[in-house]
Amino acid sequence: MTSCAPPPVLESSTATVDPIVKPAQFLVGKTADELKALMKELGQPAFRAEQLHQWLYVKCERDYDKMTNLAKGFKEVLAAQYGVGPLSVVADQQSADGTRKFLFKTPATEKKPSQNIESVLMHFRDRDVRSVCISSQVGCAVDCSFCATGKMGFKQNLTVAEIVDQYLLAQHLSGEEVRNIVFMGQGEPLLNYDNVVQAIRILNQSAEVGIRHITVSTSGIVPKIYQLAEENMQIVLAVSLHAPDDETRSRIMPINTKWPVADLMEAVHAYVAKTKRRVTIEYVMLKGVNDSQAHAHDLGRLLKGLKCNVNLIPYNPIGDEYDFERPSNEVIVRFLDTVMTYGKKVTVRLERGVDIAAACGQLANQYQ
Ligand code: SAH
Ligand code: SF4
Repeated sequence: MTSCAPPPVLESSTATVDPIVKPAQFLVGKTADELKALMKELGQPAFRAEQLHQWLYVKCERDYDKMTNLAKGFKEVLAAQYGVGPLSVVADQQSADGTRKFLFKTPATEKKPSQNIESVLMHFRDRDVRSVCISSQVGCAVDCSFCATGKMGFKQNLTVAEIVDQYLLAQHLSGEEVRNIVFMGQGEPLLNYDNVVQAIRILNQSAEVGIRHITVSTSGIVPKIYQLAEENMQIVLAVSLHAPDDETRSRIMPINTKWPVADLMEAVHAYVAKTKRRVTIEYVMLKGVNDSQAHAHDLGRLLKGLKCNVNLIPYNPIGDEYDFERPSNEVIVRFLDTVMTYGKKVTVRLERGVDIAAACGQLANQYQ
């Protein structure tokens, strides 16, 4: 686009309409090999690629000026064509429990308007471990009835660079080592499959996050679970089961009518057989919907013979007109005890950042 061309008309009711950013290309998202090829193209020695790789992915630097071992002239050439990373910081909120929620902005391009996305940084003080919960899409098409992201509908897939940049920015802004990444923010990761898989490879190989410290949570996109099993990646797969029978599951997850419980379980068994990795079964606890003792027994029976842990997620309210309720602690503990009698390790997910709407299922780009 020339500088005198009118800005493109961008259609989206919720998107922030920004002028097209220039440059619209970014270094974050490039693999080590792609950086090498770029340096060659720019007539630079090969070691520049390694230096840049370190600044981008290991030191998480955002500012060319601070990349001290790069010549000024070279940085000017680079900066004229490439931004460091695609995301900019719009807001940074801190919860009473130390959880931080970031609102980032994606760049507008000729094809896509700018969108806000959220990532959540959690600090588990008992183990001194930091985890970042990142988004794979803006909004989500899966439309689970208990999830605020689902209520937004689907807006956009995130690019590889936009996915990777959430981690780099969380690390940069906190100044601390973030060792775990969970794809449990906005979106269904397996519906943005290619970008998510490529982002995982970069996070592991370039940003040096242990592959076993990366968790992908899915609502159960069956064909993609088979495909993921073939990727030869030792990630943790978390499956949002949320009910052991079709009747209950279809009521809260419309996707169950497409891929019912039996098909999903077959795919999960195949995944475990192929990868030899234990999966996590997620189960959001909704009062009077899926929290009975009968559900607990059905769940225990359904998971028999599957190498898995179970993670119960007490429901986080989303302020919807037809909001669900969270069961009492007593009901949750009784449910946990029953599933444990089937030989499963069961944990209850710790609630993080509820006061800033940063807990599971609460991400809907609403800032307080
Ligand atoms: N789309 C993926 C990952 C993002 S959601 C998935 O659905 O698995 C991460 C987890 O939070 C999922 O298990 C999801 O079901 C759960 N969740 C969604 N809304 C919730 C809510 N209101 N309270 C508690 N957990 C919720
Ligand atoms: Fe999408 Fe996951 Fe929310 Fe369901 S729970 S609507 S799959 S983000």
